[in-house]
Amino acid sequence: MSGIYIHVPFCKHKCHYCTFYSLPYIREDMEYYISKILTEIELHQSDDARIESVYFGGGTPSLLSNEDFSKLISKIKGSFVVLEDAEITIEVNPESVTKEKALAWRQAGINRVSIGIQSFMQEELGKLGRVHDVSDIYQAIFDIKNAGISNISGDLICGLPKQTKEDWQANLEKIIKLDLEHISIYPLQIEENSEFGRSLDQETIDKLDDNMIELMQITHTYLENNGYLHYEIANYAKAGFESKHNLIYWKYKPYYGFGPAAASFDGKVRMQNSSSFAKWANGFSKEIDLASKDKKIQMAEYTFLALRLLRRGLVKSSFESKFGISFDSVYGKLIEELISYGWIIDLEDLYILSEEAMYFANQIFAEFLPD
Ligand code: SF4
Repeated sequence: MSGIYIHVPFCKHKCHYCTFYSLPYIREDMEYYISKILTEIELHQSDDARIESVYFGGGTPSLLSNEDFSKLISKIKGSFVVLEDAEITIEVNPESVTKEKALAWRQAGINRVSIGIQSFMQEELGKLGRVHDVSDIYQAIFDIKNAGISNISGDLICGLPKQTKEDWQANLEKIIKLDLEHISIYPLQIEENSEFGRSLDQETIDKLDDNMIELMQITHTYLENNGYLHYEIANYAKAGFESKHNLIYWKYKPYYGFGPAAASFDGKVRMQNSSSFAKWANGFSKEIDLASKDKKIQMAEYTFLALRLLRRGLVKSSFESKFGISFDSVYGKLIEELISYGWIIDLEDLYILSEEAMYFANQIFAEFLPD
């Protein structure tokens, strides 16, 4: 196994776009959760796993107390071989960062923070249902940098209802001024079971999609002109600061997932912990994703995860060593068609997505899936 993902499922408030698994924050529930997840981690103890990355995601992991946090880190380090240069990330919400917490994270071994900024405009934060305000963003980043954590990633959401190009450009200019190492840009997705899905009408939702490609093009040009490499469809990094954790996912490497609703992957088959807190706590039941056992699905996933990495792309010889069959014999016809549209670029042993194609990549990726 290469990575560990820990799902901390508690939040103080449900954001309007959110469909992640999260529960209302109650301190007693968090204590119960900590006692359980320590057991779950211990059950998978292994001297063979070389861990390159540990990621605390959520939910809101920054709601963990310093004591919870050091118990978790000690349990992980005592149960697996965590490499010296492992990336250890915590996802944080700006309002829950304090000077003391940031110092405690640093002392516990956290070397990367991913902060959910989402927008620098108070009105947009309100629309998104975020509980932080703009001043919390600046204070949190000040505290994290001051604590000595020098690898910070910021998330922004683009394509909000009534967001103009100028609004979006202003958000980009503000994030550039923060001089972060990594930036993730997520196009707003309206899911039926989110607050937005329940409250926005279809006409408003359709208009969001109309603007999205233009906003993504503005982002690509502006961030690349300001020293960030567009290395994955939604992610930009300064040289040497690509997310090691997400590279594990995109490179189809195995990882553990601990906590309710956490996903894991053993290199072939995907599994998902129960998204019922009670079922998870009562025996850590996992469901095997049966589709992931199908070789055709595995080949398709491998291919589109590789294509997400815009410069690395799909290496045909790696595909062949992984699946024992030549890439062109499986996808040759489809690839030829995509090349003829200008959506895939053929570089001998390598196929990469063209710039045009990255803005509607999900539709292209769907073509690789079996009927
Ligand atoms: S903080 Fe994250 S997980 Fe929690 S409700 Fe908001 S988007 Fe969802």
